[in-house]
Amino acid sequence: MLKRLRNSEVCADCSVSDPRWASVNRGVLVCDECCSVHRSLGRHSSQVRHLTHTPWPPTQLQMVQTLYNNGANSIWEHTLLDPASVMSGKRKANPQDKVHPNKADFIRAKYQMLAFVHRMPCRDDDSCTAKDLSKQLHSSVRTGNLETCLRLLSLGAQANFFHPEKGNTPLHVAAKAGQVSQAELLTVYGADPGAPDTSGYTPIDYARQAGHHDLADRLVEIQYELTDRLAFYLCGRKPDHKNGEHFVIPQLADSSVDLSELAKAAKKKLQSLSNHLFEELAMDVYDEVDRRETDAVWLATQNHSTLVTETTVVPFLPVNPEYSSTRNQGRQKLARFNAHEFATLVIDILSDAKRRQLGNSVTSPRVDNVELILKSVGSCPVDDRQDNDQPDYDSVASDEDGDLDPASGKTDRAKSLDSDLSDSPVSVQEFQEVKNALAASEAKIQQLLKVNSNLSDELRHMQKKTTKQTSIPDGDYDNTVNDAELEDSGAARRGRLRSSGWLGETGSMADLDDPEAESDGSLPSTEDVIRKTEQITKNIQELLRAAQENKHDSFVPCSERIHVAVSEMAALFPKKPRSDTVRGALRLLTSSAQRLQSECRKAAPLPESGPGQTLGPDMQLVTQQVIQCAYDIAKAAKQLVTITTKENNN
Ligand code: ZN
Repeated sequence: MLKRLRNSEVCADCSVSDPRWASVNRGVLVCDECCSVHRSLGRHSSQVRHLTHTPWPPTQLQMVQTLYNNGANSIWEHTLLDPASVMSGKRKANPQDKVHPNKADFIRAKYQMLAFVHRMPCRDDDSCTAKDLSKQLHSSVRTGNLETCLRLLSLGAQANFFHPEKGNTPLHVAAKAGQVSQAELLTVYGADPGAPDTSGYTPIDYARQAGHHDLADRLVEIQYELTDRLAFYLCGRKPDHKNGEHFVIPQLADSSVDLSELAKAAKKKLQSLSNHLFEELAMDVYDEVDRRETDAVWLATQNHSTLVTETTVVPFLPVNPEYSSTRNQGRQKLARFNAHEFATLVIDILSDAKRRQLGNSVTSPRVDNVELILKSVGSCPVDDRQDNDQPDYDSVASDEDGDLDPASGKTDRAKSLDSDLSDSPVSVQEFQEVKNALAASEAKIQQLLKVNSNLSDELRHMQKKTTKQTSIPDGDYDNTVNDAELEDSGAARRGRLRSSGWLGETGSMADLDDPEAESDGSLPSTEDVIRKTEQITKNIQELLRAAQENKHDSFVPCSERIHVAVSEMAALFPKKPRSDTVRGALRLLTSSAQRLQSECRKAAPLPESGPGQTLGPDMQLVTQQVIQCAYDIAKAAKQLVTITTKENNN
């Protein structure tokens, strides 16, 4: 069937025929060019797999095919189908369009901003809406109508929703009904196969009880997806869950390259991490495995004459705006581990995952002798990297990258530069990576400039409205990531980690009722908040322009001006605002401004680096962090404008 349908298949984004990639969470097929843009958005936006070069669980491929053939793409392009938008000139990408900026802009608007998804008319009580949607999802998964469920999920229905009256989750319902594709879809969006219902039974139990044994086996597989993927990456084998084997811990064949001190330190550190931080690190490593594997597939399937810089590999994990900048930085640093170091880290995580699940009563872990072909990308000796790689393990917990080390009198930053400079000459591959990094961050800056100018437009618009004392503008335009995106693969794997016992507790799926404080009597006037926000965005715009033109010298003065504007904005608000939302936005605003300053200081030229010295990919990391901080500041400022406008009009 797959073959027969292939002829009529076109890329969901630009309509090129014969797409070779699929986006699993979006239920669409895309061409190579569009896939490269999907990848640059990160897995939280789109999880891509090659249709023929990636091993697929058959039922997952079936799910994607069904969604695609039943027009799932129209969920993401809903408003484009409206004749009014045709009139306004809004359109999707064409096969002839350039990847950058045309296709890329469209794809970002479509999947990152969810600009064309149908919004619900009710927005007075979001929690009520989310709950209603989740209840609809709970009853829809009993049927085979997949698109309906994807539509509900895209609007914010929670895959892990615990139905208060029925006492179970949508996955319980789908499993009992034997709806294999629904179960696949729900788990992609974070449903937990090990979540107990009120009687203590899991979806796996329900599938078995109803005689759906293949589905039950598949759900067990999904539960161990994270560790299975890591094991498969190293040794090409997954554990045999049906026979009670749940972990495969490969061992490096080449044990002569003993990582000794670093390996021991890493292992110790891993073991001392809280379950939560360990889980985050494991998820980050999973994303990095996915990035490396997809890069390999990408390179293997490309015609090398068309390997242009625009659409080549993704040099490191794209920023996930839901994560802190420190975590994003740690994630990106994973790309700098050479094959041997990365394999060691993966093995340590597998061993520790098993230890955490089984407690300390592990007998002798099953060890596979695997032939690992280790192709070292970086050339610096492992021990030298200890200083700058070690923080990767705890970077999630600390924010002190720029602290002065009393022993050497140098900042961590300087030490890391020393280590970079001691590397042997830059290889062609490394050079290519730097070029790709530049291209990636260029795209990010373009996007932010656009978001920021939209924000300025919006502010002007709001100011006009408020001076006329009219009602608040509708919230249709939103630069922040849509709620539906929170239901990303991270949540999926988090759910699974919980269920496999890493957290020592079952996932809590309490309803996310968010009682917002009634009012803040002493909120500043909307005009004042808008004026300060304009000052902030103007300076952010300047900073982004400096980033775009690689004027790193301008970072510090720009960040200082932003800091001043942010402090003035914060001073408008009462010291202890009553509303949680105001407090949260203020906290995000001021902490991001502080982080921005310290990131920008890293970009300032160090005394010991002479003119014309290339700083390599580290400057890219700094720039990415600077952009992330700017993004957070703009987001927080916008929240404050929205809140004060709303409150002052009540
Ligand atoms: Zn395309």
